[in-house]
Amino acid sequence: MTVTSFLQGVGARMRLIILIVLAVLPLGGLIVYGLIANYETTLRLASDDLMRTASMAAKDPEGLFENARSMLLAAKAEDTVGLSDREACQASLQMLLAGNPQFLAMGVLDESGSISCHSSGLRPSLNTDPSVVGLALRTLASQATGMVVGDFMIDRRTGQPTVAVAIRLAPDRRGVVFVSLNFERLTKVAEGGASAAGLSMTLVHPGAGRMMTHDPPIPREVETLLPFGTTLVGSRLVAAMAAQPTGGIVEAEGPDGIERVYAFVPLRGAETGMMLAIGQPRAVIMGPQTRTAWMMGIIGVAVLTLVLGAVWWIGLISQVRPIERLTRFAQRLEGRENEARIEMEAWQPPELRTLGRTLNAAAVRLDAARRAEEAVAASESRFRLLAENTADLIAILDADGVPTFVSPASKCIVGRDPQELIGRPIRETAHPDDGAAVDGMLDTLRSGGAVADVRYRMAHQAGHFVWVEVSGRSYDDGARMTLSARDITRRRGVEMELEQANRVLAELATTDGLTGLANRRSFDASLDREIARCRRDGVDLTLLFIDIDRFKLFNDSYGHLAGDECLRRVSKAVRDAMRRPADIAARYGGEEIAVILPGTNAAGASNRANRIVEAVRELAVPHLLSEHGIVTVSVGTAVLRPSGSLQHAASDLIGEADVALYAAKKAGRDRVVEGRQLAGARDLA
Ligand code: GH3
Ligand code: MG
Ligand code: MG
Repeated sequence: MTVTSFLQGVGARMRLIILIVLAVLPLGGLIVYGLIANYETTLRLASDDLMRTASMAAKDPEGLFENARSMLLAAKAEDTVGLSDREACQASLQMLLAGNPQFLAMGVLDESGSISCHSSGLRPSLNTDPSVVGLALRTLASQATGMVVGDFMIDRRTGQPTVAVAIRLAPDRRGVVFVSLNFERLTKVAEGGASAAGLSMTLVHPGAGRMMTHDPPIPREVETLLPFGTTLVGSRLVAAMAAQPTGGIVEAEGPDGIERVYAFVPLRGAETGMMLAIGQPRAVIMGPQTRTAWMMGIIGVAVLTLVLGAVWWIGLISQVRPIERLTRFAQRLEGRENEARIEMEAWQPPELRTLGRTLNAAAVRLDAARRAEEAVAASESRFRLLAENTADLIAILDADGVPTFVSPASKCIVGRDPQELIGRPIRETAHPDDGAAVDGMLDTLRSGGAVADVRYRMAHQAGHFVWVEVSGRSYDDGARMTLSARDITRRRGVEMELEQANRVLAELATTDGLTGLANRRSFDASLDREIARCRRDGVDLTLLFIDIDRFKLFNDSYGHLAGDECLRRVSKAVRDAMRRPADIAARYGGEEIAVILPGTNAAGASNRANRIVEAVRELAVPHLLSEHGIVTVSVGTAVLRPSGSLQHAASDLIGEADVALYAAKKAGRDRVVEGRQLAGARDLA
């Protein structure tokens, strides 16, 4: 696990704990180090004291050995001390020993190590102690005149451990004289103030691994188990003494079972091989130290607990809790609880207060954004509801007239899915003839205007075109526009039928049913209009009045149906005789036809009139009762000049043509009579 991945799961509280622990660890370490250093210093000082005490205390046993040397030299100087006179020898030895309780016994040994004389009167044959024999042999073998120290042994009479020392007698007397030492007599260390310090003194024979003395006395119950002279081989004290012949310090369990710190030194002077150890119980040495440690420990723990508690509490209320509150608040914002606000106390860190204010501001903005979003969503859903459920096609276009939205009504109106129309300019799906209408509508919308009831045709999926009526308006300054298109094909069909009917009606209203010529009413209107136009244009206008000759007789002889048929044929002939689209032929009444020839002067009038007369003749409709044998017509003309002002021009013109017609009848029929040219009211007067 890397540091990063470990830290990922560590929250603010745990981090605070880690920080506190990291801050406190060195403090704790310092306290522990101080305790250890203090302990070691105490131990070193105590060891130095013990070592000094041991050196001092060693002077007593050293003195004992020096005493022994003086005693032996004194014995050697006595003439009686030797192998020759046992009783004299014994008396001398007893005299020497008297008043010297630090010695147990004295004796003379011969070359074989047998006791020759003894201060206690022992018989030579009783001497079986191998260490005494060994001492004698070694002393003789040393060839030296110095003192030889014997091995550890138990004094046969007192039962206490002892060591014997010996020197050679003068060469003429052969043998050695020895004295055994009474270690019980050594000065007690416990005397004076030493007992308060719990000091102990032990004389050890490390070579033999034996304890010579112990002060204070070993309790009786322990002593029965561990009498003096018992081997100490294997104890840490003896092992340390063997390893450090010049002396040293060791912590070991004493023979009485008490843990002590021992300082040990070798006895100087004679080659005794013995060491003196001064011990002090650990409990005594470390007592004050341990109390201090406990005090420091308790105070330290208490102070640390207080400090930790205070740091934890301050960190908790000023860091962890506000951060947790801010985090929860941010989570509520994320969950869209935008009406929530956070209150940071005035004593909180300024950074966290700033964060709180920032979050509150964000909440306000989020709240506003949410309301706006809801309003937009509501309006959008309303719009969609409308757009998708209305029969009208709703579309949103960009400025180029390309739909970005088309409502599903497109399927009903033009048989296409909205997707087929989106992205295609509406011009493309309009009838080619309606392009201008569409462009005009888009221009109006682009310039910010609104349009209503624009009609054009849209291409249906099936191939035909559908009439739509479009209303629309633009927004975003003409960048976007909405259109609503309604299918008006059916209405348009009805309209077109109506228009057709109106056209028929209009035609019926202006046309004569029998002849197909314009009727009288139409004629009246046309005449007034054409007169005005010719005056504006400054051209002449001719009026022809045509009447079928002897038509009453025709009816009488051929019947009215034949008369009607004849009338029709004559009418057609008249119409065919006309040249210009502007010429108008009308049934004026009965079997009378009036022809208006706009822009035609007198010459033209004559020409047309004669052509009509000829055309009827060419029909060659038989008419037995007519003097011509066929149906003929008589024509009277009148021409109106454009000059002057004509107040009653139309009636005047008709009257004039009628007069000319009457003249033609009178002149024999089947002819043209040209009337006067009228130039105004003044001319008529
Ligand atoms: P004229 O040569 O003098 O004109 O002799 P006319 O018999 O034609 O005399 P007039 O013009 O006065 O007579 C009109 C006759 O035309 C009366 C009527 O019998 C006949 N007529 C008028 N209108 C119609 C019509 O619509 N159909 C038929 N069959 N006859 C008509
Ligand atoms: Mg007539
Ligand atoms: Mg007639």
